[in-house]
Amino acid sequence: MDTETTDKYIEAGKTAKKAIELAKKIVKPGVSILETAQKIESEIMKNNAQIAFPVNISANDFAAHDTAFPNDTRVFRDDDIIKIDIGVHIDGYIADTAVTICFDNSKADLVKASEKALENALKIACPGTNIGDIGKTIQETIESFGYKPVSNLSGHYLGQYMIHTGTSIPNIETNTDVVLKEGDAIAIEPFATDGAGAIRDGSRVGIYRFLENKSVRLQSARKLLQFVQKNYSTLPFAARWLKEPRGFMLDAALKQLVQAGALHEYPVLKEVGNGMVAQAEHTVLVFDKPIVTTV
Ligand code: MN
Ligand code: MN
Repeated sequence: MDTETTDKYIEAGKTAKKAIELAKKIVKPGVSILETAQKIESEIMKNNAQIAFPVNISANDFAAHDTAFPNDTRVFRDDDIIKIDIGVHIDGYIADTAVTICFDNSKADLVKASEKALENALKIACPGTNIGDIGKTIQETIESFGYKPVSNLSGHYLGQYMIHTGTSIPNIETNTDVVLKEGDAIAIEPFATDGAGAIRDGSRVGIYRFLENKSVRLQSARKLLQFVQKNYSTLPFAARWLKEPRGFMLDAALKQLVQAGALHEYPVLKEVGNGMVAQAEHTVLVFDKPIVTTV
């Protein structure tokens, strides 16, 4: 990895860190989820960086992929455990980082389990480490707190304008030949739960990604597809970012585009045992001395 690329990853990381700090300040019981999403995303753009994906704001047994939907009226509640997951890029070089926020102490230990697992995994994010050993470290750390890692969620390799290059970084002990190489950019993201230790797709969808141009029946869907292909050709976007169509026409257009294979949808991810979920995530550049861009 050349220095120019390294610098862009580091700059993106700094802005992502700022956005996380803002989230920690403004996420409070009674506060609107929609306003929180808008403030966090504005903070990213104020810093001359770009949004790599809609801010994920996922509560309780929803592990990830929730975000404010258009006209969302939800507010944070006293007993929520909130995962804020933020993506920032500069010229496509991505920082992906997450924090878990709760307002009372009852889930502090669960949060600690995910944070400690991340800390231990980052220590071994060096050239030559088998990624199965990262999974093993995460699993053992989370289990030492008496919780389970979410086995079917994982970290991932990052590429330019690509959040997930196709190779996952496991959160459980895994047999694999994949070994970290100098200059790899990866996101490590342990999820800890007091539930079953797995997630499934939920029904709500607020985040999508353009796949390919397909012909569809609805004219509003065709216009929408043109718009997202132009503006969000590789990275995910939120339904709430779209100005038209509105309301049920937007839902209908998105649904038709998903069915046609023009868009990929990211349904909310729900813990199968209805367990509470905590997440911690950092982006790291793999070197003998790893560079964690988002701390
Ligand atoms: Mn993330
Ligand atoms: Mn990630």
